[in-house]
Amino acid sequence: MCITRDERVTVVDGGVEQAKAGSGERLERYERLYIGGAWVAPQDGGMMESIDPATGRAWAIVAYGGARDIDSAVAAARAAFEGPWGRMAPHERAALLRRFADLYQRAAPELAKVESRDNGRALRESRADAGGHHTAYHWFASLADKQGGRTIPLDSAVHAYTERLPIGVVGAITPWNVPLMAACWKLGPALAAGCTVVLKPAEQTPCSSLELAALFEEAGFPPGVVNIVPGYGANGAGDHLVTHPGVDKITFTGEGATAKEILKRGADTLKKFTFELGGKAPHILFADADLDQAINAATGSAWALCGQSCALGSRVLVERSVYDQVAEAFTARAAKVRVGRPLDEATHMGPQASRAQMDKTLSYIAKGNDEGARLIAGGAPAEVAGLEGGYFVQPTVFADVSNDMAIARDEIFGPVAALIPFDGEDEAVALANDTAYGLTAGLWTRDLGRAHRTAARIRAGVVWVNTYRYLRWSIPYGGFKSSGWGRENGMEALEPYLETRATVISTTGVFPDAYAS
Ligand code: ADP
Repeated sequence: MCITRDERVTVVDGGVEQAKAGSGERLERYERLYIGGAWVAPQDGGMMESIDPATGRAWAIVAYGGARDIDSAVAAARAAFEGPWGRMAPHERAALLRRFADLYQRAAPELAKVESRDNGRALRESRADAGGHHTAYHWFASLADKQGGRTIPLDSAVHAYTERLPIGVVGAITPWNVPLMAACWKLGPALAAGCTVVLKPAEQTPCSSLELAALFEEAGFPPGVVNIVPGYGANGAGDHLVTHPGVDKITFTGEGATAKEILKRGADTLKKFTFELGGKAPHILFADADLDQAINAATGSAWALCGQSCALGSRVLVERSVYDQVAEAFTARAAKVRVGRPLDEATHMGPQASRAQMDKTLSYIAKGNDEGARLIAGGAPAEVAGLEGGYFVQPTVFADVSNDMAIARDEIFGPVAALIPFDGEDEAVALANDTAYGLTAGLWTRDLGRAHRTAARIRAGVVWVNTYRYLRWSIPYGGFKSSGWGRENGMEALEPYLETRATVISTTGVFPDAYAS
């Protein structure tokens, strides 16, 4: 990678030195923030550990920012917005973004490894994910010079037109489950729109985002266009961004409860917001489906990212006549999932990203048992030889779940599938929509009419038919109901980063005297 970390080493506080000495392992060092095109030591932040969830021990020490660091980053972003970046023609911005995309493509295998160290995601998954981001950056670049306005037909005395203008300085707050993807889905459109950005990755997974800074630097972005400041949420850099009067917009991916807090904290400065929040997606398997394919999709999407994605089909709705068959297939498939060290090529599923997340999942498994659901696979921490301190959980399946149980209503964010039987289309749709969320949904049927009928009745931002988790840069993504505000990706991607200005010009210059008579 481009970061020569040793050149950027600053003071390491005592706790971190101890962790290093205790583990006997080499710690990676990310000891500078990226602000205004320079690698700087935190002014009032400090150093934190990034924990490898496979071992429960620190694998990196990382700089985090405080209020003064956010102030500097916002000032740098504002200067770039009002300076060279703001003056740059859209096609030139696009060219820079394309250069970055090419560098990203080259770096993707290493970026994927860093992500897997940070959040425990199986390397085969992070690699496949990061391997597509350069195409997304190219897509966003391609939209940069196509945000024209329109002329408005009135009469010959007036010429009116609109323009699409960048909103300004964007605070991008990303989660720990998909730090690279979330950064891509925010940085790409924000930069293409002409905004400047302060990116704050989650405190659990800051490293891959700092790696991006080196790529922006190498691509030749003007200083201050992209600033990367790891930090904490409510009591740190996240809140400073949200309350900062110099930030025009917050784009956030994370939990609904956090979004509500951000909304309240951002109210005083009347910021704009985009929220990509949780999901509890229904994955509907009709009896007439190609069940082999449907089961591949349903099991895959139950345990991908160790269950830590808002898009996963965690509520598997199965038509009663094939319910037992599907339940047996889930049990059999769970036994084939190789849980292990994230960086091992053979590993299907790594650990949960943190102890807190593992504890949350195990508490929901206990609730499922208490509520009377039938546990047909997993249900306990997974043991991985040599990684006894890791946060591993077995792929878990509950059958005979009713839609009012906590495991069907709440987003667990763990590898727990809930199988719910249904009879007929109407019940399938009613169950699918009986949720606070509305991000994604899936359905499997060979009946074309039923596919259209059912898809049209589902209240979700993305409905997949005879496929699942088909995510692409060109397809809009975002939620109905409690799943969020706004869309990422697609032709819609730049919309949340743009303002509209209407200009109205009289062709006569005549303006009547209101007081003439
Ligand atoms: P989770 O609970 O799954 O960790 P969060 O929604 O809390 O997810 O966190 C997602 C991101 O939001 C992280 O970058 C985190 O630091 C940040 N964050 C959390 N709380 C706040 C807050 N009150 N203000 C701003 N950012 C926050």
